Amino acid sequence: MTKSACPVCGKSPHALHVPFCSRGCKDRDLLQWLGEGYRIPGPKTDEEGLDSPPDHP
Ligand SMILES: [Zn+2]
Repeated sequence: MTKSACPVCGKSPHALHVPFCSRGCKDRDLLQWLGEGYRIPGPKTDEEGLDSPPDHP
């Protein structure tokens, strides 16, 4: 039984985003790897807004 929490905000991890609670936290952690100076625009990034829907011409 593994008990872990989102390393970004400490919430319960989501099955699709373990060990993170959401894609927002997942990306935030990733961005910290890429560059701690970079921040995701907007107050909070959740599961929407990161995946751009295919734009058919
Ligand atoms: Zn989180």
